[in-house]
Amino acid sequence: MLQYKRSSELFKQAQQVLPGGVNSPVRAFNAVGGTPIFVEKAQGAYLYDADGNKLIDYIASWGPLLFGHAYAPVIEAVTQRAKKGTSFGMPTEVETLIAQKALSMVPNVDKIRFVNSGTEACMSAIRLARGYTKRDKIIKFSGCYHGHSDSFLIAAGSGATTFGVPNSPGVTQGTAKDTLLANYNDIDSVKELFVAYPGQIAALIIEPIAGNMGCVLPKEGFLEALRAICTEHGALFIMDEVMTGFRLAKGGAQEALHIQADIVTFGKVIGGGLPVAAFAARTEIMDHLAPVGAVYQAGTLSGNPLAMSAGLAMLEQIENQPEVFESLDKKTAYLQEGIQKLLTQAGIPHQVNRFGSMCSVFFTEEPVTDFASAQRADHSRFKKYFHAMLSRGIYLPPSGYESYFLNDALSYADLDTTLEALREALASGEI
Ligand SMILES: *Cc1c(COP(=O)(O)O)cnc(C)c1O
Repeated sequence: MLQYKRSSELFKQAQQVLPGGVNSPVRAFNAVGGTPIFVEKAQGAYLYDADGNKLIDYIASWGPLLFGHAYAPVIEAVTQRAKKGTSFGMPTEVETLIAQKALSMVPNVDKIRFVNSGTEACMSAIRLARGYTKRDKIIKFSGCYHGHSDSFLIAAGSGATTFGVPNSPGVTQGTAKDTLLANYNDIDSVKELFVAYPGQIAALIIEPIAGNMGCVLPKEGFLEALRAICTEHGALFIMDEVMTGFRLAKGGAQEALHIQADIVTFGKVIGGGLPVAAFAARTEIMDHLAPVGAVYQAGTLSGNPLAMSAGLAMLEQIENQPEVFESLDKKTAYLQEGIQKLLTQAGIPHQVNRFGSMCSVFFTEEPVTDFASAQRADHSRFKKYFHAMLSRGIYLPPSGYESYFLNDALSYADLDTTLEALREALASGEI
């Protein structure tokens, strides 16, 4: 059983000066209890923490590190670039190079704008959609996350066709009234909204493979139906590919699922582990953006050369090693099957949802297809599962509503070590 004494100490110090001891809430382990692990360094598939423990990492910084930690080509690119200065607030060639690279990999997009976080990308994408369509309302799905901007922090009202209500203090009713909520995998809930708000819906935004209510897959035909309904009503179809972009395929979910979006948002992998995100669309839409068009969007550090160099190195490696997606798919399937087998043998009800290198374990008998079914899973058992694995050096997402992100530095021996840890934990009755 690994000990996390120093992490515990560092967490206490952090809590004195950072709200909750962290700069992003999920890191505080509130969903599972206990002390967050403070990282000292990482290499490949492994984290080395402040106590000197070595952990097998299934989060990979929440997705960006497709090839694992401290990946040499990315580190080299950042190091070389840093020596020339880290920020200018002026154009640099590397911005054009990464734009060309990204646009050549992703279908159906002509121009791209870089920003610093997925939040910014999604926030800007809906502003652009509103400016383009001259409409105010957007549709989002319960359980999908598009960053922490006001328009997205909205929870369902009494029925799908009522106005959303803010689910964070500080978000105004005025903002909430323009966000309409639908249920994932429920096309009727979307149709009702288009009927209730004719000519008012600027865009519909969705995670094509959901990863923020645990990993939840779209049912056959669901995304196609959304695509069609948006076209029919002149609303833009925004695919939030902050998680799925450059992870499920080089062209993201658009390529993997054969669906075309009007606006696509990126984050995570596109920055190779530095703060980069982006949104992209056809020229006709993107040219509504300032300085060409009237929709304002800006950023002092947007297109930062250090971050762009990291992202470019990442995209080049993906292009040079297209087999990475199949490799990750196989490894994740191996893990999924292993977990399913052990939980079945132990008689524990479970669903292991997976698409490509994203997956998550729900402790429930019923299929998890939307936010409500994800909520009905046994989250107290999840806590036990999480801690049983953590004490054996396996670092899983600290919440039942998060996806695993496998990285290709993980070996089959690492996966076997992980399954052995689960077998042991089940045998000892900890889960
Ligand atoms: C992570 C994420 C975001 C937000 O990105 P940040 O960089 O954390 O602001 C938006 N959408 C999806 C689908 C995400 O997974």
